[in-house]
Amino acid sequence: MKLHPYRGTTAAIATKHLKEQIIAPIFGELGVSLEVAAVDTDLLGTFTGEIEREGTPREVAIRKARLGMAATGLPYGLASEGSIGPDPIVPFLASDIECLAWVDDRLGIEIVEFHRSMEIKAVHGVLAEIADLDEFLSKADFPNHGLIVKSDAEIFKGVTDRGQLQKILNKLSGYVIIENDLRAHFSPTRQKNIAAVAKQLAGRLAVLCDACETPGWGVVGNIYGLECRECGGLNEKAVRGKLMGCAKCENRKEVISDRSFVAPADCEFCNP
Ligand SMILES: [Zn+2]
Ligand SMILES: [Zn+2]
Repeated sequence: MKLHPYRGTTAAIATKHLKEQIIAPIFGELGVSLEVAAVDTDLLGTFTGEIEREGTPREVAIRKARLGMAATGLPYGLASEGSIGPDPIVPFLASDIECLAWVDDRLGIEIVEFHRSMEIKAVHGVLAEIADLDEFLSKADFPNHGLIVKSDAEIFKGVTDRGQLQKILNKLSGYVIIENDLRAHFSPTRQKNIAAVAKQLAGRLAVLCDACETPGWGVVGNIYGLECRECGGLNEKAVRGKLMGCAKCENRKEVISDRSFVAPADCEFCNP
C-alpha cells in the first residue's frame, strides 16, 4: 500500500493555550508532527472579549493557521477556533462549536471541520445575585474548570484555587462577574470537544480522493428534495443525502440516505 502523503510531515499549530497537547496525539496517528508557532493568536480576538474577532470562525481559524505557517516557514498549518454561547438551534442551552482548520500550501487546499457539543461548562453569574457561592462553584465544576472574575476595573483569568478566588472577591467591588474561563487549558469540557473535532479532521485527511489522491475527501454539501409519502408532493428542503467531494479536483459522489420519503407532517401540502 502506498504511504499517505502526510506521513512524516510537520505542521505548524498556532496556539497559546496548550491545544497542541490535545491535537498532537491525534495527528500523530496520521504521521503528522506538530510544531507550536510563537504567534499571538489573541490578536485575532479573545474569549474574554477584550479584542473583537473579525470574520467567521472558519476565516479566523484559517488566518490563525496561516500565521503559524508564516512564523515557522512550514507549508502545513493547523488552528482551532471555538464559539461558546447560546446554541444556534436550541438557544436556551449553551453549546460549544469547535472549528479546526487544516491549510496545505503544497497542494493548495484548506479543509475545515466543525463539531457541535452541548457538553460545555459555561456558567456565568453576577456576584451580588449569587445566593450560595459553593453551589455556584460546584455548577461551574470549580476548580476542575477555571474561572474568570471581573469588575469594571479589573479582570482575573485562570483562577483555579479557592483561596485565590476568595482574595480576589475581597478585593473587588461594584459589579462583579464570575464565569467559567473558556480558554482550552482551563476548560476540560472544551478539551474534549477539541479532541472530537481533531479526530474528525484527521479522519477526513486520512481519506484520499480516488481520482487525484489529494487527502481530505469528505462531505462538501447536502442533496435536497424528498417526496411526501402520502401525496407525492416535493419537499425541497428535506435532505436526501450527502455530496462527497475532493478539496482539490472536481470529483464528486452522491451518497443517498435511507430516508426516501418525508412524513405528511413535514409536507407543506398535507400539513401547510
Ligand atoms: Zn403530502
Ligand atoms: Zn481529487
